[in-house]
Amino acid sequence: MAEPAVPMSSPDLAPEDVSAVLEVMRSTTLSGGPFVQRFEATVAQLAGTRHAGAVSSGTAGLHLAVIAAGVGPRDVVLTTPFSFVASANVILYERGIPVFVDVDPATGNMDPARLAETICALRGKAGERGRLPRALRDLDLGEVRALLPVDVFGQPADIESLGEQARALGVPVIEDSCEAIGSSYKGKPAGSLGDCGVFAFYPNKQMTTGEGGVIVTDRDDWARLFRSLRNQGRDEGGDWLTHARLGYNYRLPELSAALGLSQITRLDELLQKRSQVAAWYAEGLQGTEGVRLPTVAQATTRMSWFVYVIQLAEGRNRVREALAARGIPSRTYFSPIHLQPFYVERFGYTEGDYPVAEHLGRTSLALPFSGVMTREQVERVCNAVRATVRAG
Ligand SMILES: *Cc1c(COP(=O)(O)O)cnc(C)c1O
Repeated sequence: MAEPAVPMSSPDLAPEDVSAVLEVMRSTTLSGGPFVQRFEATVAQLAGTRHAGAVSSGTAGLHLAVIAAGVGPRDVVLTTPFSFVASANVILYERGIPVFVDVDPATGNMDPARLAETICALRGKAGERGRLPRALRDLDLGEVRALLPVDVFGQPADIESLGEQARALGVPVIEDSCEAIGSSYKGKPAGSLGDCGVFAFYPNKQMTTGEGGVIVTDRDDWARLFRSLRNQGRDEGGDWLTHARLGYNYRLPELSAALGLSQITRLDELLQKRSQVAAWYAEGLQGTEGVRLPTVAQATTRMSWFVYVIQLAEGRNRVREALAARGIPSRTYFSPIHLQPFYVERFGYTEGDYPVAEHLGRTSLALPFSGVMTREQVERVCNAVRATVRAG
């Protein structure tokens, strides 16, 4: 008989999470109530920022950040191709142009040296523009408006060096921390490292609200703008049917906020369990020929494991199929954004434009991962990986 499948990911829900949601159900306030406020205050405290604004998803939060940065048609936002597609899509929502910067082969995070080259190329001095991908050379590019690095797989980007370059350009940093709540960079919390940071709470993230996100910032002007934009463009204290600007309905429901508040109260426990699962994986896969384990950079003073991604020297797709045949799912994190069909069609990117991201995309395999995995499940996955890698 086939063994039961190991799920790719699962939320870690405790009885108190369920009670928190029921408490909202028994009240009559389903939107704009006390749980949203308490959840925001707790996230701000965790990130060490002055403000936190809950929104309906991480994508919605990133979209509002791009608006706050003043991105308009043809404006450039520097970002990474090795991420979930939403981190670049939000730039397109405002008709800006994502200019990608290749990544560090060890961490998958934006490479500061590549950022410096890209900035030079954009300035177009002495034929430097020729170093941009062909797809971008003939575009009528506007001003650079923002830097949008991603804390990929739960590990903060090298923000010191990236942030310095953004300051030199005079543009804000939008930190996509949708995969990194709870991690820290040189002792500082992820999300607090730029002008604003965005967390996401889809059920596969470290903690969940079902759907949801939070934007954190120290900037009073941005916090005020986020509160207005998520709420149909209403100004605070204004009339319910007066709209000061083009807004959205990006509010987080009370039910989700109550779940989020309960989950964030358990965040240390949730992260501790994930880190235990990661340690079991490292133990089980250590020394397997052709398998590279995830790298935690020295600057990452606390790792918040989002996924467990290994690099396979060869035969990634064969290993993936062999795992599937044993009831073990896996994902090819990430297929680089610039090679997504929609980006190829729109911009004409080709293979070779961002070689490091592409190499990671070809060799990486995310294994089943969550804080509720048992040691026995992890061992089963490890045994299957070792057996299929050897068989190749
Ligand atoms: C999950 C994620 C998002 C989007 O979050 P949603 O809440 O699903 O909209 C954005 N960026 C990255 C890097 C993510 O992993």
